[in-house]
Amino acid sequence: MGSSPTITLHDKAFRPYLSAAELATAIDGVAARLNADYAGRRPLFVVVLTGGFMFAADLLKRFTGDCEIVFIRVASYEGTGSTGTVQEIMGLREDVQGRDLILVEDIVDTGTTLHHLLPTLRAKNPASIEIAALFFKPASLRHDLVLNYIAREIPNDFVVGYGLDYDGLGRNLPEVYVAA
Ligand code: 5GP
Ligand code: MG
Ligand code: MG
Repeated sequence: MGSSPTITLHDKAFRPYLSAAELATAIDGVAARLNADYAGRRPLFVVVLTGGFMFAADLLKRFTGDCEIVFIRVASYEGTGSTGTVQEIMGLREDVQGRDLILVEDIVDTGTTLHHLLPTLRAKNPASIEIAALFFKPASLRHDLVLNYIAREIPNDFVVGYGLDYDGLGRNLPEVYVAA
């Protein structure tokens, strides 16, 4: 097959960026490291919706040990004081105390989302928290984060597809596109 054509979502043109095969190779790498590092530990994968759903499905199919999987949504509110954003985690009914958590994210851009989410999770006393993200834009990062399971680093460009949207569209695309 030839490469996919340029597409339009809303008013914006996107060109092919990563094929399904390239995504699969990148995800194979993360899965292999998770399989090695979490052998015998029964981690709890915490998938951050909505963008993480497709990556999570392909990543978790490759996880060979026992594990549990939950899906959460994160809502942000402006704090009342100078502390900034307060994160509410919706959908996490499990007791995570003492558990090995692996957050599954679509993309780490500025890192602001995780910077606010991690303290909320740490307050629930899990044994460990790691982040598995499909994409990471190192040039955009504005916070101290330890990112041990990144499938692929990308430049500071806007990407869509494979779970990631542009104003609601594009999440269903099996490949990743970049603003043309
Ligand atoms: P952060 O808080 O790390 O700056 O951004 C995280 C969120 O921003 C992601 O979960 C995603 O929703 C959105 N985001 C950041 N970069 C991109 C991108 O290139 N494409 C899309 N579709 N969303 C992005
Ligand atoms: Mg996200
Ligand atoms: Mg979005």
